[in-house]
Amino acid sequence: MNENLVPKDLRKEYTNKEILSIEQKYMIPAVTHYYQDPILIVGGEGALVKDNSGKQYIDLFSGICTKITGHHHPKFVATLKWQIDQLVYTSTLYSSIPYAVLSQKLAQIAPSGLTQTFIVNSGSEANESALFMAQKYKNNPYIVACTHAYHGRTQLTREISSAGWRTVPESHPPCVRFTPYGYCYRCSFGKIYPDCDMECARYLREVIRTQTNSAIAAFIVEPIQGVGGIIQPPPEFFQITYEIVKEYDGIFIADEVQTGFGRTGDHWWGIQNAKVNPDIITIAKGFGSGIPIAGFLTRPEYAAEYTTTDSFTTFGGNPLSCAAAVAVIEIIQEEQYLKKAIKLGEDFKRQLQTLKAHHKIIGDVRGQGMMQGIELVCDQVSKEPATQEMLKIMEICRQNGLFIGKGGIDGNVIRIQPPLELTHEQVEEACQILDIAFTEVEHTMQKGT
Ligand code: PMP
Repeated sequence: MNENLVPKDLRKEYTNKEILSIEQKYMIPAVTHYYQDPILIVGGEGALVKDNSGKQYIDLFSGICTKITGHHHPKFVATLKWQIDQLVYTSTLYSSIPYAVLSQKLAQIAPSGLTQTFIVNSGSEANESALFMAQKYKNNPYIVACTHAYHGRTQLTREISSAGWRTVPESHPPCVRFTPYGYCYRCSFGKIYPDCDMECARYLREVIRTQTNSAIAAFIVEPIQGVGGIIQPPPEFFQITYEIVKEYDGIFIADEVQTGFGRTGDHWWGIQNAKVNPDIITIAKGFGSGIPIAGFLTRPEYAAEYTTTDSFTTFGGNPLSCAAAVAVIEIIQEEQYLKKAIKLGEDFKRQLQTLKAHHKIIGDVRGQGMMQGIELVCDQVSKEPATQEMLKIMEICRQNGLFIGKGGIDGNVIRIQPPLELTHEQVEEACQILDIAFTEVEHTMQKGT
């Protein structure tokens, strides 16, 4: 490759300061970074990322739950390079091989009956499209979403995201209703599982009967809430809500943007852990392992009424993104990520439970596979969210070479959603660093500083 052809400004070495000053001048302030002194990432290998000083970090957040195959996976890189040499772009006004091959592969790994694919560019767009299709098919505007959900930032998906992102009251669409999610650590009804009779799930019937025309277009739900704080309801939550959705003739949409592609282990899709077969799944993030691609999978009868006028997208289904996604699916199969995620997840959970036994700041440990969460509290009894402490823990982890994610409506949940390339040794090292961070922060809490 002739590197001299690559724009000089891209090849130049920059300091953090230089990049930050460009950002401050030319990016809108809404583009913010983690950490007081933001990190400039320049490369990575597997589950490790490297900053511009050469320091390496174990990446437990994979960007945002996205770089599923890790950095520099040889098959991923080779596929992209090969596809760039063939064809980077054509629109879906023409046939292209990668989109066709990808749809066929998705049908092979899809939940039963979801044989038809529509490819778009982001998780928000995937949800927006799926919801539109459901509303049109059912000729009904009502959508029920869950408290603490996150489904995106287009106008509709923002409005079905209850985890603190509904910022413009005037724009709330009239068709959105909310029902409680199964958040056992902070139960909406003050009950304790399993004596609760799953009141959270059953409340959906109340919502539909009293706040809709006793029918809905769709119920949309994350199998494990990600942005909301790695909240995992008992499996009955999905079984009961599924039955209620069907009782009222609705479409059950599983938002698999975070839980998809083997992240929760054992199955391709998080909802399959609850043995529920959804009508639509929406996918993004790990789908392209960093190359922008998203979409939904659905039943032919719903797809049949979704026309070109309803669905066109300029970049959706482009050859480069589709080729990347084909490589991702094959890597997951060849590297047996589904098995690996469950095994490594159990290992991780065991070590996190040990940390919980030693640290008062840990209120709850939850999740499964490569999607685990640690909810931090100032006090185990009052469960006051440890929001400021979370920020300190992130900084200490960073100093010690570890990236973690942040979630929850109060920003007090550590999100662990690493590349599936993570190793057992890295899990151990990560837990040692978390231990150091919890100890240090608990020490300052005791001193009241
Ligand atoms: N659904 C879920 C569950 C998500 O976590 C996200 C993004 N965090 C989205 C949808 C929206 O995806 P995107 O940012 O690609 O639009």
